[in-house]
Amino acid sequence: MFELINLAGDTYCFRMPTNVGIYKVFENRVFIIDTGINEKSAQRILEAVEEKGWKIEAVILTHAHTDHAGGCRYITETTGCSAYATEAERIFVEYPDLEPAVVYGAFPCRDFRGKFMNTPACAVRDIKELRLPEGMEIFHLPGHFADMIGIRTPDDVYFVADAVIAKETLEKAPMSYIFDIRSQYETLEKIKAFEGKLCVPSHAEPTREISALADFNRECLDKVAEHILNLLRTPMTVEDVVARLTALWELPDSFGQYVLTCAGVRGFLTHLRHRGLVTYRFENNRMLWEVESAQ
Ligand SMILES: [Zn+2]
Repeated sequence: MFELINLAGDTYCFRMPTNVGIYKVFENRVFIIDTGINEKSAQRILEAVEEKGWKIEAVILTHAHTDHAGGCRYITETTGCSAYATEAERIFVEYPDLEPAVVYGAFPCRDFRGKFMNTPACAVRDIKELRLPEGMEIFHLPGHFADMIGIRTPDDVYFVADAVIAKETLEKAPMSYIFDIRSQYETLEKIKAFEGKLCVPSHAEPTREISALADFNRECLDKVAEHILNLLRTPMTVEDVVARLTALWELPDSFGQYVLTCAGVRGFLTHLRHRGLVTYRFENNRMLWEVESAQ
């Protein structure tokens, strides 16, 4: 942890709880990919970069989540460089109330604003304005969040952000918060094409065997969807589903976990509803979800 490793040619990774990609664009100038969760992680990144005698030319944010964008303001203000993200993600970093509001469903209650929902507001430019070095490529990985991107460096290293979640994390609880499950399935399929290339997920070891991890992530999505379908053979509210899953995976009783589980369940209900597998009705002023009777 907190170690700068050379992955290939001019491509480096600063290992942290959220891995940071570094690509040397010319001489001592570098692009960095993501910024850690807060000012402290940003300081560690700057120290590692300065120790090498490098200067940051630009920050590329893969997506707006705090553990990726939380250090962005500190880095851009300290170095004077600009940060870039896709249009949809950029807005979330500029108006940081939006991310917790999307997950919570209203103006976020202060009890929900732990360290993961507290990005310092930061000006971010559209990634289309960034002149990429020859051979660097941006690719879209929507699903985990609105318009997350990955980056291929000219050394053929693929930074794939949170497109895949580490196996150990999913083994504890197979459901993570996903913005759009249908897109996530497509993204998992897409990154399997990188099999054999060096891929760097944000929260797992760099690997040349990304297909196995992508498959494991897909199996977890299938398993959660199947589990919710089974529960909905008995009509129940979202809260009932949340309570069942909380018990099943022994999730902690906390404000943040509860909100994330609710959002996770609603995401799966959207996905199942759009596939025609579940429906809803109202009974005694409660909204009940259930499997489509044709099944
Ligand atoms: Zn994320």
